[in-house]
Amino acid sequence: MKLYSNTWLCLKISLKLRKNKMNTQEKLKIYLKEIEKNDKKGNKINAFLQLNPNAVQEAKKIDAKSKKGKLAGKIIAVKANINALGMNASCGSRTLEDYQSTYDSEVIKKIKEEDGLIIGMANMDEFACGWSGETSAFGATNNPNAIGYVAGGSSSGSCASVAAGFCDMALGSDTGGSIRVPASHCGVVGIKPSYGSVSRYGLIDMSMSLDQIGSIAKNVSDAALLFGVITGKDEKDAISIGSRINLKEVEKVPEKIKVGILDFEINDSRIQKLIDKKIEEAEKKYKWKIEKIKMDYIDFAVATYFPIVYAEFFSATRKFDGRRYGKKIEDVCGSEVLRRIIGGSEISKAEHAGRYYYLALKARRLIEEEFKNIFKKFDCIICPTVPRLPHKIGEKIPIEVMFQYDALTCPINLSGDCAISIPAGEVQKIPVGMQIICEKFQEQKLFQIAKCFEKLE
Ligand code: GLN
Repeated sequence: MKLYSNTWLCLKISLKLRKNKMNTQEKLKIYLKEIEKNDKKGNKINAFLQLNPNAVQEAKKIDAKSKKGKLAGKIIAVKANINALGMNASCGSRTLEDYQSTYDSEVIKKIKEEDGLIIGMANMDEFACGWSGETSAFGATNNPNAIGYVAGGSSSGSCASVAAGFCDMALGSDTGGSIRVPASHCGVVGIKPSYGSVSRYGLIDMSMSLDQIGSIAKNVSDAALLFGVITGKDEKDAISIGSRINLKEVEKVPEKIKVGILDFEINDSRIQKLIDKKIEEAEKKYKWKIEKIKMDYIDFAVATYFPIVYAEFFSATRKFDGRRYGKKIEDVCGSEVLRRIIGGSEISKAEHAGRYYYLALKARRLIEEEFKNIFKKFDCIICPTVPRLPHKIGEKIPIEVMFQYDALTCPINLSGDCAISIPAGEVQKIPVGMQIICEKFQEQKLFQIAKCFEKLE
């Protein structure tokens, strides 16, 4: 079942929005009405944790400007682990439920400079630790395109708010798949930029050597537009370099593309079939060269990812000791966050030096090298974003099965390359995403290829 039983209303709204004729205030009004009707009541998507109390005022100001920025008229949801002045960056946790951001993250500063309007803070797995959106202290997010199923995590509210028609775009963060997994389940576009493309200043870390902020939208062009605004070098984040992107180029069909199709065992053959069909169509239309590829180390990615996350997350949470920020994390957090804190504290002990974390870093190097070698011959790698369909909200999933959600996304966080999830179709009326992966800082090519697939519809 979809969120909209009233297809006509939905069509009317999307036609109006598509014409882009509305000013920010009119558009905001429509979105707020939808949120009022469907976010907490009715089908209860539970995408937002807080709405921007100044949104109407801010929209008025934007509309009154004579010279408007690139994001004028765009209404944007923000994952609740990104600081936006005066808003509650709760990280989906009781720990920070009363914390009010005292500054704007670099990405929020850039959005505001380009006249984007922040509509509210989006629900998420607690401290971005999760696969389904169910670890949020404020309740799971429902999937607007498959009611009763999880929206996917951890950027559950960000992707659901775009899919439900509550906003134009959203910001999410992706450490092992947290933008791409929910984008895939909700049927929207979501990019995990290259490590260093976007400043992390103001992002509340989950795992600092893997986290990236990225954009989520209904289509590739809008995701590229928001990415173009937030990418860049920032003195406040030493690893940020920024990526070059020209939005006109994004619309062009790239020539002589060589695509590597990842050979990976997927239990649900219906998912792989959808992807294969898309690739066949693209091969015919664009005359791209397609070849199957095997990756030796991809099966080790999840086992490599978690020791790194545990150690870095443990370190990142030490500041939540109840003095400066909110409550003491161990006193109020949920079981998934606690598992990682305890696990991280154990593997960080001196007697384990040279084992877990260090070994994981070595394995990570191998994965990175493997991607690098493939990109010497291929422009991109394609595979399903998630090798399984989302489960029903509340369904008990063994942790080893949960790990599968990220099997194909976390390798790209380990390698630092960029990847996007775009809708590929539906299985049992549930959206399925296709993942396209390009080499570090090749976001422009990534968007171009994604756009070509989008045009196949
Ligand atoms: N599901 C993964 C985890 O729980 C990834 C989360 C993320 O990308 N923030 O670690």
